[in-house]
Amino acid sequence: MNTPTAQQLDAEDPLAAKRDDFLLPEQGVYLDGNSLGCLTRQARQRAREVVEQQWGQDLIKSWNSHGWIDLPTRCGEKIAPLIGAAPGQVICCDSISVNLFKIVSAALKLRAGRRTVLSTVSNFPTDLYTVQGLQALLGEQQCRLQLCADTELESALGDDVAVLLMSHVDFRTGYVNDMQHLTAMAHQLGALVIWDLAHSAGAMPVMLDDCRADFAVGCGYKYLNGGPGAPAFIYAAKRHQAGLQQPLSGWMGHRAPFDFDTHYAPAAGMQQFLSGTPAVLSMSVLEAALDVFRGIDLSVLRSKSLALTDLFIRQVRARPALADLQLISPIEHEYRGSQLAWRHPDAWAISQALIARGIIGDFRAPDIVRFGFSPLYLRYQDVERSVDVLEDIVCTGMYRQSQFQLRKKVT
Ligand SMILES: *Cc1c(COP(=O)(O)O)cnc(C)c1O
Repeated sequence: MNTPTAQQLDAEDPLAAKRDDFLLPEQGVYLDGNSLGCLTRQARQRAREVVEQQWGQDLIKSWNSHGWIDLPTRCGEKIAPLIGAAPGQVICCDSISVNLFKIVSAALKLRAGRRTVLSTVSNFPTDLYTVQGLQALLGEQQCRLQLCADTELESALGDDVAVLLMSHVDFRTGYVNDMQHLTAMAHQLGALVIWDLAHSAGAMPVMLDDCRADFAVGCGYKYLNGGPGAPAFIYAAKRHQAGLQQPLSGWMGHRAPFDFDTHYAPAAGMQQFLSGTPAVLSMSVLEAALDVFRGIDLSVLRSKSLALTDLFIRQVRARPALADLQLISPIEHEYRGSQLAWRHPDAWAISQALIARGIIGDFRAPDIVRFGFSPLYLRYQDVERSVDVLEDIVCTGMYRQSQFQLRKKVT
């Protein structure tokens, strides 16, 4: 049987029509939806309405008339089905970093007598910095970050571990950690688990409830396409919600914010995780962006994501000129996220030359070129074209030009 061409794959793609919901760059291919998702028509429309009508005309009335006050809950409930969460367990607020501070602290309190937060050296730095900050604040008797290699988790899970803090998908390699297995293992040893879904929510099915996850955080501006700096979200399993204590107590998390009581009393359920006023502009745009997922079968999304990355790998391997690119993402579907990472000594220059030619991926220190694949708007032809350009850049040595060597502030 012949391998289907990219054109054939596009013609048979059940998600092909979704691309029309997006306003994509006119030229080039965008392979960075795992850093900043693309703009949807609905999100652009909502941004205009919120600025011009809701803020511009209706002003303060909008808290009630346009439901601004319930945005965190509404967005949370729209995210819930994407991460396998039954209603009443997800709320939208702040950034992942701030949310982790709240969640790690609350989880430690649930495991009084234990003080260790276990994570892996490969985890996203902000996750580690957050715990380091908490450790400095509470003292090592209350909170101690322990790091281990990904392969050593099992032996590192000792009886002082209160919290296991894991990324679902590794931000560099795209490796998918086994949520079911690691959660069960941690529970057996009496630890709670916090999952960071930054690189999985919106890119593949996530089964928080089924895995009996305790807590999770995730990102609004990556695969959820909420726009630059879009607020993040928190998941807390229903069974933990009563009796939680999070340290950033603020009026929006109060049981009755508009009573203006002098004494803090947390709201029931997920609202207790709110601190201050929601970022209404950002959250409104995120809410509209989430509509693009309506009617999407996440297993179909996952199949397309894997087919896109399969094609990219196949295309790179078919070109001898690209033999120096070393794939550090998993080949096995089970462990592969929606991105591919390739090691090359000139990774920075190659990523810059690609961008100059309209192929937008990114660079991760020290030597990784990373490509994200958003199944809602990428075509198989885009994949083929990207590898064509990559081959050309390497064959011609274009990336060696001096303008591609200078490192920028944001990579
Ligand atoms: C992108 C990302 C974050 C971002 O954190 P913010 O505080 O929301 O900026 C956190 N964790 C992981 C794993 C990420 O990939």
